[in-house]
Amino acid sequence: MINVSHLTKKYGRFTANNNMSFIVENGEIAVLAGPNGAGKSTAIKCIAGLLRFEGEIEICGFNNKSIEAKRLLGYVPEIPAPFELLTVWEHMEFIARAYKLENWQERAEMLIRRMELADKKNKMGKELSKGMQQKISICCALLIEPAAVLFDEPFVGLDPHAIKELKAMLSELRGKGTTIIISTHMLDSVEEFWDKLLIMMNGRIEAERERKAVEKSGENLEELFFMITEKNNGSAEEKDKGE
Ligand code: ADP
Repeated sequence: MINVSHLTKKYGRFTANNNMSFIVENGEIAVLAGPNGAGKSTAIKCIAGLLRFEGEIEICGFNNKSIEAKRLLGYVPEIPAPFELLTVWEHMEFIARAYKLENWQERAEMLIRRMELADKKNKMGKELSKGMQQKISICCALLIEPAAVLFDEPFVGLDPHAIKELKAMLSELRGKGTTIIISTHMLDSVEEFWDKLLIMMNGRIEAERERKAVEKSGENLEELFFMITEKNNGSAEEKDKGE
């Protein structure tokens, strides 16, 4: 479970996340949707414990900056940052050692195979394309069998096979009770599998919907998305660079 309570993040005087609160339950896929600049990546980085912020965030009941929370949380960043001089397999070894995993090899093999990196096992990070680097990030995040996992724009830059495979993995993770947050600026990329939808604009959650309620009401989410994101677009561009 991920519990975000009154999250506010400022870069200098500019407010990138403005008093955001939401809960994602175990076995639930929440989607943070919004146009570029809405504040999705910032919120994900705050949840991952990478930025300072105001408010409180808990991962499975632990403060997100605690070691306990970090052990439970996987994070796939928007821009992959593999170690240039480690091979694909060495990335797996590195994560396994850092997290003190046991009997991880078979799982690592499975992840690498599903992400079609098996023939690249001995290639170094710097020798891989951006899409392949992103696949390493996914393998690293999932190797620890996280109780909760954050994906920042995971489908951008992946080839169709990897997108299909990742979608299958997301369903499997949900079935095992994993808490999942995905950010996207393309609503249609997540339409088959979201459980909770949070539409963001200018750092705020402007609408929150549960799949079951939408299925009942028949509400048109695309219309809702554009109504929210096309109103007020482009405000608050005056800001200081910080952090
Ligand atoms: P999204 O992921 O929805 O595209 P971001 O969270 O990346 O949005 O950015 C939200 C806002 O915060 C944008 O206006 C962006 O320019 C600003 N921003 C992001 N990172 C920084 C930073 N390090 N310093 C200053 N402003 C930033």
